[in-house]
Amino acid sequence: MELIILRLGHRPERDKRITTHVGLVGRALGAKGMLLTSNDKGIERSLREVTSSWGGDFFVQTGVKWKEEVTNWKREGGKVCHLTMYGENILDVIGELRERAVKLMVVVGAEKVPYAVFEAADWNIAVGNQPHSEIAALALFLDHLQEGKELKTKFADAKLEIEPKRRGKAMKVNET
Ligand code: SAM
Repeated sequence: MELIILRLGHRPERDKRITTHVGLVGRALGAKGMLLTSNDKGIERSLREVTSSWGGDFFVQTGVKWKEEVTNWKREGGKVCHLTMYGENILDVIGELRERAVKLMVVVGAEKVPYAVFEAADWNIAVGNQPHSEIAALALFLDHLQEGKELKTKFADAKLEIEPKRRGKAMKVNET
């Protein structure tokens, strides 16, 4: 399944670290890229650096208009799922989503999300109906969706690769 993240409402003065982590989680857990409504080039730069060392081709596009992105995505046959504590419980709909979505845009908010997003989404999904965090919600959502398979992903053209060990740390530095 093709997955992208749409991050709404990023406030450059408050949300830098959280939005960077949304991108890191998206990249590590199988998304192709992240669209950001804010024009924060710092986020783009940090994630590009991570990708350049750790591989893959995760993209970040800043300054997007969410309505335009959602409309274009749907026109191309994509589905949209908005993560919100007000939505249907993930365990009740994740099977339907796996069956119906081939391309999926996963929307996460920061501050109050416009009601139009709830209306535009094909699914409003709660990762439990309690308030918590967009980073946690995204990680659990991607993991449930892919049934844990994403945790074994190998990233192409990685300069740095960890050699998993029971104890200690081992890293391979690849020639590129
Ligand atoms: N007050 C905001 C609102 O009314 O939507 C929520 C702020 S919350 C810290 C930021 C984002 O985390 C939300 O927009 C949502 O994407 C995600 N989030 C928080 N709790 C969630 C939950 N239980 N299930 C799914 N997503 C959640």
